Amino acid sequence: MNKVAVYPGSFDPITKGHIDIINRSIFLFDKLIVGVLNNPKKNTWFTLEERVEMVKKVCKDNNKIEVRGFEGLLVDFMRENEASIIIRGLRAVSDYEYELQLSLTNSSLANNEIETIFLPASRENLYLSSSIVKEVAVHGGKLNEFMDSRLIEYVEKKVKDKEGGKKC
Ligand code: ADP
Repeated sequence: MNKVAVYPGSFDPITKGHIDIINRSIFLFDKLIVGVLNNPKKNTWFTLEERVEMVKKVCKDNNKIEVRGFEGLLVDFMRENEASIIIRGLRAVSDYEYELQLSLTNSSLANNEIETIFLPASRENLYLSSSIVKEVAVHGGKLNEFMDSRLIEYVEKKVKDKEGGKKC
């Protein structure tokens, strides 16, 4: 039986921390689906299409990885894709409480047929988040330490668009 795992997240935008989790988990499964969540309540910088495009750009060379956008409950997305394993990354202790809550909820919703596997963040990515990347970008800082160089233009363009849209 094929072991299919889903790595869900907002990826707004995808950082080197996310990429590290993807690269370390593909060895454990036959297929890894990166599920890009469209949560209308979350005020994301990038549209779902843009976020999916960015993830696809960095994952395109690995045929074990699929990138898909989804909406609604993660367990429904898992069922549609016949996946039973969720991958999540854990950084500091502050991630733990939320991640545990999420994992227990998903497990209950799926009658315990879904398991979450946590991978610890690598030392160099321990304090890296999409929010930090956006903060650095707004202030014109260098982004290549935090994200794939092919994606920097997307972020810089978004900053420009946002600045252009500001009213006096
Ligand atoms: P969400 O909005 O679901 O938290 P994120 O895109 O912020 O989505 O994160 C998706 C997953 O990746 C989460 O499990 C998060 O803890 C993990 N993650 C985010 N940044 C890092 C990082 N620097 N190192 C390891 N895991 C990370």
